[in-house]
Amino acid sequence: MTLTSQRKRVCVLGSTGSIGVSTLDVLERHRGRYELVAISGHRQTDRLREQCVRFRPRIAVTADPESASLLQTELRRAGCATEVRHGPQALVDIASDAAVDYVMAAIVGAAGLEPTLAAAAAGKRVLLANKEALVMAGDVFMAAVRRSGALLLPIDSEHNAVFQSLPSCYAGNLGQSGVRRILLTASGGPFRNMDPASLASVTPEQACAHPNWVMGRKISVDSATMMNKGLEAIEAHWLFNAPPSSIEVIVHPQSVIHSLVDYIDGSVLAQLGNPDMRTPIAHALGWPDRIDSGVRSLDLFEIARLDFERPDLERFPCLGLAYRALEAGGSAPAVLNAANEEAVSAFLDHRLRFTRIADVIASTLDGVPRAAITCLEDVMAADGAARRCARQAIGRWGKEIA
Ligand code: NAD
Ligand code: MG
Repeated sequence: MTLTSQRKRVCVLGSTGSIGVSTLDVLERHRGRYELVAISGHRQTDRLREQCVRFRPRIAVTADPESASLLQTELRRAGCATEVRHGPQALVDIASDAAVDYVMAAIVGAAGLEPTLAAAAAGKRVLLANKEALVMAGDVFMAAVRRSGALLLPIDSEHNAVFQSLPSCYAGNLGQSGVRRILLTASGGPFRNMDPASLASVTPEQACAHPNWVMGRKISVDSATMMNKGLEAIEAHWLFNAPPSSIEVIVHPQSVIHSLVDYIDGSVLAQLGNPDMRTPIAHALGWPDRIDSGVRSLDLFEIARLDFERPDLERFPCLGLAYRALEAGGSAPAVLNAANEEAVSAFLDHRLRFTRIADVIASTLDGVPRAAITCLEDVMAADGAARRCARQAIGRWGKEIA
């Protein structure tokens, strides 16, 4: 292993979330190699305070002036010199700061797009967990990466597995590398075997109880509808320049194989491991070196068997909707993402039935005309139009709950 002479300076956007906390856990194991210089945590000031005291970053960013002043006061009292800033521009500033080398993009949803894009435009090593940013703005995002020479490394376990299973010289052409298909594995979520008639009455608590992974609430619901896999198909399209027809989804309930690459000579390469996000996080932090992640080694005797099933597109219509948006291109993926965010948030607030999430997305895809996307403003316009349309649909279907 080559030890870098200078510590890499890391910014973690969304340090208080599930991915953020796992990232800090890995960073803490390698204090001689990485220095945490900036963090953000929206309104989770308690967790931010604890992280500031533990890591002493230069800057911490919160959502608004109230949370910032609360945190700043508490940090002064604790003798911690971290400067507290607030708001979306402060996120962009820390993500593109000249004194930052690596940016972990782990804010959930569209709120992460601008800072993640700023990190890409500034040529950072971008560790991408915030898949929604790439789904919304794929073309614009990838163009920013190419222009700046940023290094984009996937944190999503499936894409990290594909990245590890592709040739190390992979240059964005599946055919030239002898790749036939990318196979994304999916656990199938908590409702894989539930009677479809019962799905209409499932609660947010049931939807968030994922069988294999502990994650934030939004991605947990996305896993339960399988929209997560749909977003991941779109993410794979952009990351690996893979045509939609070359990306397949396989349900694999054990979540041990994190994804596979099928080559024309019949070889299938895969990456396996315990379902713990510290593995892809450590991989992307250390790459091309390998560093300890704290994840225990895989015990194949304990696992004993691996199962595979075809996804049930009737039970999980969101997966088909995502492929439809990917095929349509232009603004369609941004519209899909925005409608999904609105519908998931309404479901989590008990304002919409679980099974209506797909209906809201389908009616929004039908209701918002497809437009070309050439810049961030186009993305934000599509996002705004889709949210307005989705909220109307939620208003109509929400009456079923009351
Ligand atoms: P989470 O809900 O646990 O954490 C989200 C983070 O974003 C928190 O730090 C929160 O403070 C911050 N945040 C929320 N709203 C914000 C806003 N409006 N502005 C600024 N910051 C805001 O989510 P998570 O599970 O850590 O997921 C983060 C991202 O990583 C998502 O895009 C998710 O799809 C992706 N991801 C997560 C996992 C996982 O295992 N958790 C796996 C793969 C990909
Ligand atoms: Mg994933």
